Amino acid sequence: MPELRNVNPQKRAEELLKRLGIHSNPTPVEKIAKSLGAVVRFSPLDEELSGMIYIKDDVPIIGINSLHHPNRQRFTIAHEIGHLELHKTFLTASVHVDKKFPIMMRGVVAAQGTDRKEIEANTFAAHLLIPETLLVQLMEGKTFDIDDDKPLEELAKKFRVSRQMLEFRIGKLPA
Ligand SMILES: [Zn+2]
Repeated sequence: MPELRNVNPQKRAEELLKRLGIHSNPTPVEKIAKSLGAVVRFSPLDEELSGMIYIKDDVPIIGINSLHHPNRQRFTIAHEIGHLELHKTFLTASVHVDKKFPIMMRGVVAAQGTDRKEIEANTFAAHLLIPETLLVQLMEGKTFDIDDDKPLEELAKKFRVSRQMLEFRIGKLPA
């Protein structure tokens, strides 16, 4: 079956969480990968490499750079799950290697020169790690003061994501 071109990464991430009955944070990314039949391997890789994914004999293999910060490893796993969910057909043809994610570096999704698949996988990962309904719930009644880092830090800890990632998601919330 050809891949649908009008993929909605946010919807797909939300549907996956729902399908697996995951309603709380932090999102168990490794468990999700395993429940999709993937093998997750952690090993020390070059600093610029975040991870990779390929499919061998029908088994998706996800490689993660164990030297990176745990939050970043979680993002990478979520990103690779995104490729598995959204771009499966192209994974059998070759090993997909992910270098530094622009989203993690500058807190923005860099569209410049970035593959459409990468943007989709990043969006998927962002919504898998920080589901919108949960984020809205947790932010309700809270005030976020630019002079007080604590509430944001605590929220980031709950999701086990970086502050940058959280701020990026909050910035993307529909008004
Ligand atoms: Zn990628």
